[in-house]
Amino acid sequence: MHHRVLQFRLYDFAAKRRLLSVRRCGSNTKVSLDEKDLPAKWYNITADLPQPPPPPLDPRSLEPLKAEGMGALFPQELIRQEMSSDRYIGIPDEVLEVYKLWRPTPLFRAKRLERLLETPARIYYKYEGVSPAGSHKPNTAVPQAFYNAKEGIKRLTTETGAGQWGSALAFACSIFNLDCEVWQVRASYDQKPHRKTMMETWGAKVYPSPSAITATGRKMLAEDPNCPGSLGLAISEAVEVAVQDSSTHYALGSVLNHVLLHQTVIGEECLLQLAKAGETDVDILIGCTGGGSNFGGLAFPFLREKFAGKMNPVIRAVEPAACPSLTRGVYAYDYGDTAGFTPLMKMHTLGHDFIPDPIHAGGLRYHGMAPLISHLYNLKLMEAIAIPQKECFQGALQFARSEGIIPAPEPTHAIAATIREAERCRESGEAKVIVMALCGHGHFDLASYEKFLSGEIEDLDYSDEKAAAAMASIPVVKQ
Ligand SMILES: *Cc1c(COP(=O)(O)O)cnc(C)c1O
Repeated sequence: MHHRVLQFRLYDFAAKRRLLSVRRCGSNTKVSLDEKDLPAKWYNITADLPQPPPPPLDPRSLEPLKAEGMGALFPQELIRQEMSSDRYIGIPDEVLEVYKLWRPTPLFRAKRLERLLETPARIYYKYEGVSPAGSHKPNTAVPQAFYNAKEGIKRLTTETGAGQWGSALAFACSIFNLDCEVWQVRASYDQKPHRKTMMETWGAKVYPSPSAITATGRKMLAEDPNCPGSLGLAISEAVEVAVQDSSTHYALGSVLNHVLLHQTVIGEECLLQLAKAGETDVDILIGCTGGGSNFGGLAFPFLREKFAGKMNPVIRAVEPAACPSLTRGVYAYDYGDTAGFTPLMKMHTLGHDFIPDPIHAGGLRYHGMAPLISHLYNLKLMEAIAIPQKECFQGALQFARSEGIIPAPEPTHAIAATIREAERCRESGEAKVIVMALCGHGHFDLASYEKFLSGEIEDLDYSDEKAAAAMASIPVVKQ
């Protein structure tokens, strides 16, 4: 009798523990902030760097670019921000009002993924897929549209790869009553028709790039009528149109200092959320890098804390093996676009006429890396790795089947790197705190998932011949 009671109790206890673990998993995994906790300022990391990054150069004189040299493309306030070394820049009320549609964004503790991986690591992810366009891009599209509208500009042109940036700018232009024209890389224009419809729903005009509208596009089409396009080429087309009309400006969704500045709302919120979750230290921060904006947006406020001696996280960028600008590129002055219209920027680059293989993470198919990120990498304040796409999709399935969210193909690179780290923790028994940027959802990328699920996705390598040819296009700039 006594024995039976004991057994019952033991059984009961186990059942309770199971219940508790289910419940523990269900609650406290989301760290929300109130609207009043929305950051009022963007953080400019330039103010805290041990050395300033090398300046952009005028492509003709090779002298440091002056503010006037950018006036044809950008409004004065964005040029000021691009060159500023003020530590903080206030976010205008009009921009905050729009941010409030989706910000603050949630931080999640990935408890189900942790259990799936049987890791003692504590994994957090900051989710930017809750914005109207489904990624972090509206964080900069909204202020860019605002400053242009405020200075009387009527139309913005831009490029888009996977369609994320084009959608974000189309959304922002619709809010501030600007016309918006988008050159979408041909390969994704054909692969992802719904992104185009999304941009058109917000009122934008969308052209495949290369297009017959610009001289650059016509030249490319004459050489290769089936050219799949590239981000560098689409930038040339959008810039060509913008410089011809004084009421038209151009907007860039990554790479530039002011873009990374606007994205720091991600890291600022994340610091508050981690404190709220009782985490005082972070061991490692992980983000995917195309041009470096979602990664910089998360990492820069943490770097500020690191410079102040308050924490010491490893900061790890993850890029696709097929487009490895940090891990295989050179650190040199190069153009931001294929035709060579843009200023020369000192950056990690694969060469401005490098056309990356058509991997599914369209947003990571860019030949260069943000000058700020390149500079930090060169100063060894961060590290980088490259991962092939099959491992990324594998990680995405583990993530979707434990955490529920279907990630965009770009952040699957961050997920794969996070899983690698969590598995190392399982081996070593270390309970590291890992924070990852989940910069967008994959609802418009289901064709890629379909291919992966049916076994059709290949790893595309960065080939040495292709690399050597593109590297030869990097201009020689004496320093
Ligand atoms: C554009 C985009 C990227 C790449 O750009 P970064 O500037 O490196 O952030 C990555 N992920 C998503 C979801 C994007 O839309």
